[in-house]
Amino acid sequence: MAEWSARSRREGRSVGFVPTMGALHEGHLALVAEARRSHPSVVCSIFVNPLQFNNLNDLEHYPRQLEADRALLLKTGCDALFAPQADGLFAGFVPTTYSLGAIASHWEGPSRPGHFQGVVNVVERLFHYVRPDAAYFGEKDRQQLTLIRHIAEQERWPVRIVPCPTVREADGLAMSSRNARLNAKDRQKATILYRALTVARELGFQHPIPAVEQAVAATLAQEPDVVLDYFGIADHDTLEPLTQWGDRSMAVALIAAQVGPVRLIDNLTLVR
Ligand code: AMP
Repeated sequence: MAEWSARSRREGRSVGFVPTMGALHEGHLALVAEARRSHPSVVCSIFVNPLQFNNLNDLEHYPRQLEADRALLLKTGCDALFAPQADGLFAGFVPTTYSLGAIASHWEGPSRPGHFQGVVNVVERLFHYVRPDAAYFGEKDRQQLTLIRHIAEQERWPVRIVPCPTVREADGLAMSSRNARLNAKDRQKATILYRALTVARELGFQHPIPAVEQAVAATLAQEPDVVLDYFGIADHDTLEPLTQWGDRSMAVALIAAQVGPVRLIDNLTLVR
């Protein structure tokens, strides 16, 4: 893979990279399209990373459809697919314990112990083999994006991290490979996450944060089967939890909840 990228660059074609865990949907394909806008060579990886799953059941049930994904990527105009096996990707590799800083200590951090160390380790391995000029990450996984940007800077990884907006279904549900595991009833209930976030967006900066949180809680109460893990409002850049708006002009509302068999996450940018 590194040789493919090196040849591409030698021939004057910069390399854009989209790392994924497969079961591709429009959200992933939007990242590929965005990479394509700036790079003559686009590579996508598909690797279900065992290091980032703190829940064995989630890992076992994670959807896998490599052949369908390959066909979709071909149609989308992706130039190369990197789909390594775990023993190849991690051959001779000893995981590093990264200094993740405060970004990882909230939201997904406490809920998924070890998750972000697993994410950063696999991203380092993927970058090591792919050697991209730029890598594309979705705002859907806002904390992951913020953390990767932070680590790339801290570790001086020679790659530009490019954020891409969240792609949603018509009813607002953020596209996710895990949505395929929702039955029709749960699929309907799952829209409450986006509805809760839009309440926060409508009330944000107009009312104190505790009042916004109360309104969101009232909205979530309409779907008692959806089990909230967290909802909160954070600083846009550091993701530090906020109790007051202060003089900032942007913030992020973040939510995670269990819906039937799957845990879903979503977030929305709030602008003053
Ligand atoms: P995943 O395969 O879920 O690990 O996601 C691979 C990349 O696609 C990550 O950078 C995600 O943030 C991004 N992604 C996943 N879902 C969406 C979405 N609905 N909209 C935009 N990007 C997404």
